[in-house]
Amino acid sequence: MNRAEIVAWAEANYLDLEFTAARRWLAEEPGRKAVGFLPVYAPAEIIHAAGMLPVGIHGGGDRIDIIRGDAYYQSYICHLPRSVVELAVTGRLDFLTGALFPSTCDVIRNLSGMWKVMYPEKYSRYVDLPQDFAKGVGGDFWTHELRELVHDMGELRGSPITEDELRKGIGDWNRRRALVRKLYAKRRDEPHNVPTDELYQLLRAGEIVPFEEFMTMAQAYLDVCDKDGRRPRDNARVIVIGAFCEQPPLGLIRTIERAGCYIVDDDFLIGNRFLTREVDCSGDAVRALAETFLNHTVANPIVYERDADGKKKLVGERLRAARAEGAIFSAPSFCDPALLDRPMLQAGAAREGISFISFKYAENTGQFQQFREQAGTFSDAIKLWGNV
Ligand code: SF4
Repeated sequence: MNRAEIVAWAEANYLDLEFTAARRWLAEEPGRKAVGFLPVYAPAEIIHAAGMLPVGIHGGGDRIDIIRGDAYYQSYICHLPRSVVELAVTGRLDFLTGALFPSTCDVIRNLSGMWKVMYPEKYSRYVDLPQDFAKGVGGDFWTHELRELVHDMGELRGSPITEDELRKGIGDWNRRRALVRKLYAKRRDEPHNVPTDELYQLLRAGEIVPFEEFMTMAQAYLDVCDKDGRRPRDNARVIVIGAFCEQPPLGLIRTIERAGCYIVDDDFLIGNRFLTREVDCSGDAVRALAETFLNHTVANPIVYERDADGKKKLVGERLRAARAEGAIFSAPSFCDPALLDRPMLQAGAAREGISFISFKYAENTGQFQQFREQAGTFSDAIKLWGNV
């Protein structure tokens, strides 16, 4: 399979708001079920362990007109819940048997309530992530929550999930995480061979299609990137920070790269990389999953930062790890977690003399000229004068 074919597959799935791949999988065998999950992090491997299809729900982006979704929310919140509601009220999410709503922010919490109003007969669960990292406090709490989720997913599919199924499910997700990490490492080292718009669509597809299909396509993409090497350009290497929940329109990602920047690290679809290590499935798999969350997650606004100076150090640490030359703070309008963190992140970047620019977007932003000018000027300045 060549690059164009893989990218076309990813794009088709990314654009498909009817979730055809998921519906096809459901139709292939009677009794199959799919469970959705909202950003930012949900333990999707437990859905997978139950033999059900985990489906990432990211709203409709710039590909759906919000007609009824606006009626559910006030105007001064982000765009994501409106388009999720629009997808729901137009029947596009009817194929889901249930949905998980992680404790990302008040908006997602409220969306879980809306979901119950829209689908009173379906399963829904607000997944309260731990914010205390002591083993006997947050660890016990999260283990308990995960065990309840294991129980619920078993009930939903019609029989309890066995330990072996759990180990296999978590093991599969370990392989998935490792492959995603490889893709990110490849892009960091050779961004000219792994354009972010391609990588992004591949990961979006991966949240909709069955596990094995994604693994096959992601590995194939990695292989073609090794083979059909492209010529590097003299672009500025940047990291994009803040787009961890409501996703930017694809046009914005393309605009940043076409303006002369290589994105070498980002927060897009961060749930795929939220755990930074494999989960040890040799003993109590649920406890191991809980403790991996406790000790090995990415730094992110939805998780409590234990180091008082941690947020100020973060941009520099990420910049150095990605060998980047500048940072772009890019967050959804009205996104409390991202925008409350931004002043601390920017102060840290300024303290270290790191060049940065900032802007806000909505998932349905359609005009990219101002972003092109800003990112283009930023890239030129980095190339001409280094850190400015
Ligand atoms: S974009 Fe921000 S405010 Fe909106 S749901 Fe996500 S985290 Fe919450």
